Amino acid sequence: MQTIAQNIVQVKTNIKQAQTRAGRAGPAATLIVVTKYADAEQINQAVAAGAVDLGESRVQRLQDIARQVTAHNPGKQLKWHMIGHLQRNKVRKAVGIAACIHSVDTLRLAEEISSAAQKLKIVQNVMLQVNTSNEPQKYGVPVGAAIHLAEQMATMPNIRLTGLMTMAPLTDEQSRIRACFARAYELFMEIKGEALSPYFEHLSMGMSNDYQIAVEEGATMVRVGSAIFGK
Ligand SMILES: *Cc1c(COP(=O)(O)O)cnc(C)c1O
Repeated sequence: MQTIAQNIVQVKTNIKQAQTRAGRAGPAATLIVVTKYADAEQINQAVAAGAVDLGESRVQRLQDIARQVTAHNPGKQLKWHMIGHLQRNKVRKAVGIAACIHSVDTLRLAEEISSAAQKLKIVQNVMLQVNTSNEPQKYGVPVGAAIHLAEQMATMPNIRLTGLMTMAPLTDEQSRIRACFARAYELFMEIKGEALSPYFEHLSMGMSNDYQIAVEEGATMVRVGSAIFGK
């Protein structure tokens, strides 16, 4: 069995190799270590192994674990990413704690975040979550509505739109997964071309099962949990 530190090295190596394979120059995609299956002790091990970007999918857990792990690692500039669906009535728990909220997929949610951030006198980094798999039960704005929502978000004073996030369908069909990531990249480049925000530079996609495909298709951030901590 490999240690958490060895798993992190392995994932980073795989990211670099995927990037080379696809002929993508530039900095390596950022690894967001998803901590939802891990306890504080395991997360501290990941931090000791160099993890800086950490991701949680539930807001209550984000609050609790961020407090614990941050207290245990003074002086480390840890960045907590809120990657899961966020209900509007829980927005205040995430704003200010999350370095970035990846899962904004409606106008009302974006407005709620902007107004919560305004009360704290901060600007909250966010991403627009896009549903590239066309699965009806999935979160994310439909591809066809994404540009319009991005334009609206870019006008809100207390949020900063930093990119797009997507999830591939749960399937073994690699071609379907790849098609979703390719669609996200295309949309990402299209929105980037509109120059809505100088901060619009990230494409968050890829999890344990598919992060190498995501990197090949242009991800700048991958969100990996079970490949590091086990299931
Ligand atoms: C859990 C989760 C991940 C990580 O999943 P793994 O398959 O364990 O790598 C990534 N993104 C989101 C939104 C998640 O909820």
